[in-house]
Amino acid sequence: MSELQAVERMLCRATGRRHALLVGNGTIGLTLCLQALGLAGRRVLLPDSSCLNVPLAVLHAGAVPDYAEVRLADLGLDAARLDAPLRGAGALLAVHGYGSPCDLVALQARADAAGCPLIEDACLALGGQGPGGRPLGGFGLASVLSFGAGKPVSLDHGGAVLTDDDALAARLRALDAGLPAFSAGAQARIDTLGGEHTRLYNQHCLVGGDGEAGNGAAAAAAMAGFRRRAQAAGPDFGHRFDPARCAELAAALPGLAATVALRQQRLQQLHEALAPWLGGALQWLAPVPGAVPWRANLLVAAPPARDRLLRALHAAGLHASSWHPPASDFLADAPAAHPVAGRIGREVLNLWLDARCTPAYRDAVCRVLDEQLAATA
Ligand SMILES: *Cc1c(COP(=O)(O)O)cnc(C)c1O
Repeated sequence: MSELQAVERMLCRATGRRHALLVGNGTIGLTLCLQALGLAGRRVLLPDSSCLNVPLAVLHAGAVPDYAEVRLADLGLDAARLDAPLRGAGALLAVHGYGSPCDLVALQARADAAGCPLIEDACLALGGQGPGGRPLGGFGLASVLSFGAGKPVSLDHGGAVLTDDDALAARLRALDAGLPAFSAGAQARIDTLGGEHTRLYNQHCLVGGDGEAGNGAAAAAAMAGFRRRAQAAGPDFGHRFDPARCAELAAALPGLAATVALRQQRLQQLHEALAPWLGGALQWLAPVPGAVPWRANLLVAAPPARDRLLRALHAAGLHASSWHPPASDFLADAPAAHPVAGRIGREVLNLWLDARCTPAYRDAVCRVLDEQLAATA
């Protein structure tokens, strides 16, 4: 058995799947699933509050993203609103955004009723548990993992597609085999696109940025340019897993459970440290059971307050972000009317839970909250 096959076996054991295929990244993993199902030209449902790579994967497969509303309870798709959109859809992408398990039972039931395959995006959720305590990455027709930066197993490279379906696994392998090998050039272009998205967001979506939030014509033109480049970036994401990274992945996988436990512990510590400021203008979004917390998520009422707080944290040299704005704001022709996804975009504040979440970080965040929330009162 090759080293690559050994790692694929490890992923099967971790998720309870029959087949695992290492791929270049999570984005191409999603694209390959849609291609293997022959969904070019078809509508694919996905949460509007999501990492931009999810709709990009749909676009790169030649399919049509259909953005759907999410709910605050788990930051995932709101199954109750999907009956009409699911009719005639090619696939449902059930994304565990923020590492928070989405409502798999309800989503699978509705997808089954509509005869629509469910693809599980577990890019941020490897090591987490879904219904019945079963490992995430083991639900739906196929599941996708990522080993990119900030993921539960973080190598800055690679991903995987998992399935129990023999025929689908064979089609996925054939499609992947037709892709070029990994190249540093392709990775650099992916990173450039990510940087452009962040810049665009800072300029046009945050209040008090270099530009002006929502600034009409200039923002629209910038978004349109970004959309063209993002759509054209398909070939950059389309490459195979770099076998040179196999040993590193094999070494990292056994540490997954410990990583997840550490993130949960840091989340708990952060929650305790922030307790005096919670309630009122600052709301804590508690993780659902089985989550692999990516970052701590808070809502800050009134958008200028969130953006002011974010800038104050950055000015103090502290890691904080405000992901995710609605993906449709960047990629759709017309704005989507999703009040919950919109509210998350305007109000969410994410704090760090990786190794940079130290006691000093927690203390410094508390000092900024103290100043900023006192200043608003
Ligand atoms: C990171 C991520 C992806 C894309 O994975 P890459 O390996 O970065 O291409 C897709 N979906 C979700 C939910 C992610 O967090």
